[in-house]
Amino acid sequence: MIPFSKLERYEGNEALFDLVTMSIVSSLVGEPLHIHAEGLRGTGKTTIMRAAKGILPNITRIKNCVYNCDPEHPHCPHHRNLSSEEIAALGVEEVTMPFLEISHSAKIGTVAGSIDLARLTDSAHPEAQLLPGIIPQAHRGIIFIDEINRLADTSPEITDILLDVMGNKPGHLQIEEAGLPVVDVEVSVSVWAASNPDEDPGPLEEIRRQLSDRFDMVCYMGRPTSVDVLSQMLKENSHSQKIKKNKESAQLNSNAKDDLYRQNIIKWAQKYEKADLPDFLRNYIARLYVKHNLESIRAIEAMQQGAVLYSTIKNRDQAMISDVTHMIPQVLKHRVDGDTLIKMINDVEVRGSRDGILNFKNKKNNPEKKKEDTEYFNTAGRPLKDLNRNELINTEKTLAPKEG
Ligand SMILES: [Zn+2]
Repeated sequence: MIPFSKLERYEGNEALFDLVTMSIVSSLVGEPLHIHAEGLRGTGKTTIMRAAKGILPNITRIKNCVYNCDPEHPHCPHHRNLSSEEIAALGVEEVTMPFLEISHSAKIGTVAGSIDLARLTDSAHPEAQLLPGIIPQAHRGIIFIDEINRLADTSPEITDILLDVMGNKPGHLQIEEAGLPVVDVEVSVSVWAASNPDEDPGPLEEIRRQLSDRFDMVCYMGRPTSVDVLSQMLKENSHSQKIKKNKESAQLNSNAKDDLYRQNIIKWAQKYEKADLPDFLRNYIARLYVKHNLESIRAIEAMQQGAVLYSTIKNRDQAMISDVTHMIPQVLKHRVDGDTLIKMINDVEVRGSRDGILNFKNKKNNPEKKKEDTEYFNTAGRPLKDLNRNELINTEKTLAPKEG
């Protein structure tokens, strides 16, 4: 498998690299970020997601705990009632952040949990115990589901489990097995999914709308269209280049670049833990919600989480309006109709070209401009509850100068 850091990047797939990185950063601080990559065959969506295994950081867990108990907050049935002294006695260990896959033919017992047959048939100490399934074992990490649309179509029970797991952050899971008490565990996992909406059974939002809405962001993967990108890809994929690359990676440490990526992820997570969205941007998001009748609170929560994460992995000190608008298509593609989305994108772009607020490039090295923007929003953006009706209408007009 080609290391994550060596995969080809182009305009159509860049967003997925970012989302994958953002989700790992967020998972590391205990806040899941669910992402869904949609696209045609051959766009490399599953390759990128699977290659991310190579950049996963470590987590610290109670030694040998299959539920990946955080020593500070033990949650599993074996450890949740132990004192900190008892936990200290068990010891801790570092393991790679889990990355587990659910196939669309998976059984409920494999996904949630089942009776531990090895223990049950142990002749010395027969014992009925639960063996946690893929989801509880992926606690504090990632679950990957390829062809999520097919899973939603053929496994309503697993879909229901996913709805619970992704319902809150953290979510929860009930493991049921005849003859054993029901176990309810907290699970904090980021769900990554991929699908081809053009293949049977069609786009996820049409099969199970509720599950589609659980994804914070959707990334539509385009095929590369630029001649330059395509010829570069041809070159990279040519036989002689592959041989050359293999030699290189054998000589150098092929994982050195992935290691660097991992270091960055740890650094970004430390930064993200303390970062917050400035109030004026929160007001901006709230106004988008009201103006465009967005309905999904998850959508604007994702916009907030996404903007802060995106600004973090782009090494900015603080999230900016461009970080919020960058998230709009990914947060809303699966939640609003196409017309609304285009209207919104035009809306923020019109704004951008008018006063340069959205044009990040222009103000990159211009602290004056940044100050101006902040001032503009500090005066123009106030909590919605403080605005009266007329003001609200005025504000919306100012936001959309093209609408008469
Ligand atoms: Zn545990």
